Amino acid sequence: MIVLRANRLYTPQEEIENPLVFVEDGIVTGVFSETAREIPRNATVIDLSREYPDAVLAPGFIDIHMHGGAGLDVMRPSAGELPRLNRFLTKHGVTGYFPTTVTAPVEQTCVALGQLADAIEAARTSPTSNGEVQAQPLGIHLEGPFLSHQRRGVHPPENLIEPTVQIFERLLQAARGQVSMMTIAPELPGALEVIAEAARRKVCVSIGHSDAKVEAARAGVRAGARHATHTFNAMRPLDHRDPGILAEVLTDEHLTADIIADGIHVAPEVVQLFLNAKGKTGSVLITDATAATGMPDGTYQLGPIQVEVKDGRCMMDGKLAGSVLTMDRAVRNITRFGGWSLRDAVRAATLNPALAVGLKQIGVIAPGAEANLVVLSSKGDVRKTFIRGHAA
Ligand SMILES: [Zn+2]
Repeated sequence: MIVLRANRLYTPQEEIENPLVFVEDGIVTGVFSETAREIPRNATVIDLSREYPDAVLAPGFIDIHMHGGAGLDVMRPSAGELPRLNRFLTKHGVTGYFPTTVTAPVEQTCVALGQLADAIEAARTSPTSNGEVQAQPLGIHLEGPFLSHQRRGVHPPENLIEPTVQIFERLLQAARGQVSMMTIAPELPGALEVIAEAARRKVCVSIGHSDAKVEAARAGVRAGARHATHTFNAMRPLDHRDPGILAEVLTDEHLTADIIADGIHVAPEVVQLFLNAKGKTGSVLITDATAATGMPDGTYQLGPIQVEVKDGRCMMDGKLAGSVLTMDRAVRNITRFGGWSLRDAVRAATLNPALAVGLKQIGVIAPGAEANLVVLSSKGDVRKTFIRGHAA
């Protein structure tokens, strides 16, 4: 048994002083305060309280919307390169993520889905590669092809298609059932049927890249959508007399929603508005990171398109095209933008995304959960990451 000892821990719903985390075979078997429980004599103790006295132990971050990093684009996931991306994510506190597709020709998407399914299955069967533990792809997020032409962002218009259950089925088959999430514009003809089918197949349906009026957005939720993708970006803007999809996203408490809190995609004040509306349990942080994340300025691939990266902005034809945001920075940002405590900010990057997409035993430090943990400074800087109880 491994016992992790620290000065403070966020479960993240609760805060524990002088915590002990018991880990067996990569799984948390107990979380106690030192005052309540003794360390078993046969345990290997990892004492973080000495090395990082100001640090907090928190669940590893979960990023449910990311396109790459460290120079790698997930639409071209060559097996040899994926560990480099995983290592990069781990450094930023991410322990699990959803590689996210960009709209491309269906055949091309299917090839990428097959390769991503390989990577997910491999990570599941052997969490270590060459004795190394790193962040793991947990499921695929399909961003497109069922997106609105009016709100497509940089997704190529020639590859957008009207939703049909047949095409959805084809994508699911190509991914061998590893699709965990799908962004769809609910107002498109055929969308409600696809939303219902996706929900039935346990895919988290997220409304986004949408020009929906409020009624169409609500119909999408009634059909089975339960989340919203990068709130404010690629959405019909909020108008006080013509509320649209944003009114539904910001007011429906049954809907969780995510946001790119880099201060570029959405102004800090509007991030605060979002956090106030969705609250401590409904707010989810994503990065929408591209291959350029962690790399110098230059030209990078994002699925079928090329993006120019300069001073933290990824652009294509004058439009924002993904980000270079990392999850730890997103967490730190909302402590400033929203005045949130570090614990609440951590929750928006751990438990909230896990619950939003229906992942169990992840994003939380509790008995039965995977021992994926991050050691954060009091300001939210990543000091160390543990995956299945092993220091990465
Ligand atoms: Zn995206």
